[in-house]
Amino acid sequence: MYNYKIRLQIYKKNRIKNCTIEYLAYICIDFKKQLSMKTKLLFFAALLCLHFALSAQPLKVIVFGAHPDDCDQHAGGTAALLVQMGHQVKFVSLTNGNKGHHTMKSDDLAARRKAEMKKVAEILGIEYDHLNNPDGELMPTIENRKAVIKLICDWKADVVITNRTNDYHPDHRNAGILVQDAAYMVSVPLMAPDSEPLLKAPVFLYVPDRFQKPAPFSPDIVIDITSVMDKKIDILSAHESQMFEWLPWNGGYEDKVPKDAAGRRQYIIDRFMSRGSVERFREAALSWYSPEQLENCRYLEAFEICEYGRIPDRQRIKELFPMLPK
Ligand SMILES: [Zn+2]
Repeated sequence: MYNYKIRLQIYKKNRIKNCTIEYLAYICIDFKKQLSMKTKLLFFAALLCLHFALSAQPLKVIVFGAHPDDCDQHAGGTAALLVQMGHQVKFVSLTNGNKGHHTMKSDDLAARRKAEMKKVAEILGIEYDHLNNPDGELMPTIENRKAVIKLICDWKADVVITNRTNDYHPDHRNAGILVQDAAYMVSVPLMAPDSEPLLKAPVFLYVPDRFQKPAPFSPDIVIDITSVMDKKIDILSAHESQMFEWLPWNGGYEDKVPKDAAGRRQYIIDRFMSRGSVERFREAALSWYSPEQLENCRYLEAFEICEYGRIPDRQRIKELFPMLPK
């Protein structure tokens, strides 16, 4: 059971990890005025080592989607870049995706989509988890909220990413509600008594959508994912049941799906990757990249900062997204 002493330890650890070196020096100078300068310097050196050891830990990012291909579509490139840099990413589908097909039975489809998630996890080098809520029936219940809180706490997330709450699909809306409702609750020990609460609140981010009411998506953070586009094509292609079967059938363009591998890769680019990301987010990307750095940019992923989590300043955003130029 979680207790006060552990809470104090986590708090102190987080303070040392996140404070500036000047502040560490101030602690040492101010600490027990009767101590000799030599002792204070030794204390400073020890704190400095602890600070750098804690700061060197990999970033932990968790992405929630309503369906087994949602995280991939919105954050697959960013995840690939983070993993390449030694950081850790986990995708979570809040449903088992058992409705997205026109010929398969629900149970068979859930099993197939589980295998597709596993394949994506292998390609990206991430964890891919899912809850067993039926597709099309995701609700912001207390049970689901507790499950989301536990997943975020157990992952010790620095960044949490999900949908906004305005969307055409009820599962996407409810995914947004469930995750944003966890933003404060991840710091409340009794909400997930078997997990360690996050006293340093994570940054919560939203993925893009096209809806304008009550407010359009704001691209606060934009990532150039051009260098990992092949990996993103691979993970989208891994969701075979969706990209090449269900979505074309549902959208009435089944006859446009190529049969050969090269044609299918181009089809993924045209249908699911371009979607105007550069035209749409280039201007916002210019606050992170120079025009020269964006010269060969073909694909961008964008995120909006949720006001319910920690609000990062520009420096913190660059720490959380270390692929951004210095
Ligand atoms: Zn979805």
